[in-house]
Amino acid sequence: MATGRKPLAAHRRIVVKIGSALLVDRASGLKKDWLHSVCADIARLRAENVDVLVVSSGAIALGRTVLDLAPGALKLEESQAAAAVGQIALARAWSESLSRDNIVAGQILLTLGDTEERRRYLNARATINQLLKLGAVPIINENDTVATSEIRYGDNDRLAARVATMTGADLLILLSDIDGLYTAPPHLDPKAEFLPVIPAITPDIEAMAGGAASELSRGGMRTKIDAGKIATGAGCGMIIASGKTQNPLQAIETGARSSWFAPSGTPVTARKTWIAGQLQPAGELTVDAGAEQALARGKSLLPAGVRSVSGSFSRGDTVAIIGAEGREIARGLVSYDAEEARQIAGRKSAEIEEILGYAGRAAMVHRDDLVVTGVIAKAKAKEETEKGAVHAG
Ligand code: GLU
Repeated sequence: MATGRKPLAAHRRIVVKIGSALLVDRASGLKKDWLHSVCADIARLRAENVDVLVVSSGAIALGRTVLDLAPGALKLEESQAAAAVGQIALARAWSESLSRDNIVAGQILLTLGDTEERRRYLNARATINQLLKLGAVPIINENDTVATSEIRYGDNDRLAARVATMTGADLLILLSDIDGLYTAPPHLDPKAEFLPVIPAITPDIEAMAGGAASELSRGGMRTKIDAGKIATGAGCGMIIASGKTQNPLQAIETGARSSWFAPSGTPVTARKTWIAGQLQPAGELTVDAGAEQALARGKSLLPAGVRSVSGSFSRGDTVAIIGAEGREIARGLVSYDAEEARQIAGRKSAEIEEILGYAGRAAMVHRDDLVVTGVIAKAKAKEETEKGAVHAG
């Protein structure tokens, strides 16, 4: 569903991914003026009520400059050491530069498991959302010092796409030295055509992505298209633009060349589709008629409306919600372990702290993590239709 390209400020939440080569010069280190110009762009967006998250590469590149490591490929432990040195400098640079516009930065270092395992995913998401709520700009990178090859993203394009889907962003901007997607690598093929709009990532589009990656940045067009699949599939649009100019976000607005990948749905549908697509629920919460009506109106499920709890599950697992008539009426990610859920079932949210000994979440299943049955049916049907369309196409 291509809805047309909107101005940046018309988005609710934007993830900006910054490639290493934009931030770090091999000889002179951090490109401070450029960083200041990006921070000024971010400040302008925030003044228009847009949440901005930054996925910043550059830890390894900056660390190898600080440590004066010889050019060429690094061994794993060398790049981990370089990242350890570079990440401090990188985070400090962001923090200082954003503070010129009175913006506070918060550092988040993620490893693959933080987005792929549901419980850790929920925790990471909660922290990032809290930072945004407090008005800070999350500065995110992969935790390169502990990530080894089997357990790493390896490139920040896909990491940024996961961050975008995790936080329900509606736009992902990949800034690098490439200004967009071409039908063939433009430096090799003079007939390569630039594509300003990509309505869907078809096999033809995928075939246009070469495998290129430079010494400074791991991601080539391949990982950008992978990122596009993750983002657009979850209802988040994506822009590939060059970050080589000062004020690169403003440049996108004023007509600098960039490619826009249309989202395939809305963020809400994507989250619901993800929950609906979970495997067998680990447990069941049977609710009363009042809760059933509240869920139908799009409310969260509070402990007070839960009559019984069955199964053994942990916080973050998928549970089925059973209505008064014994049918599954909804499915969602539960905020409590089974044992805790049993203890607080039927009780008021205000009593949770007294019962469990800590102030947990007010909702047993928050509405953002909940799909009512009709939506499950629709989401499944949509998935089937899309699968059918792909096979047919
Ligand atoms: N996480 C790496 C770094 O900060 C960059 C990965 C990438 O370039 O995609 O150095």
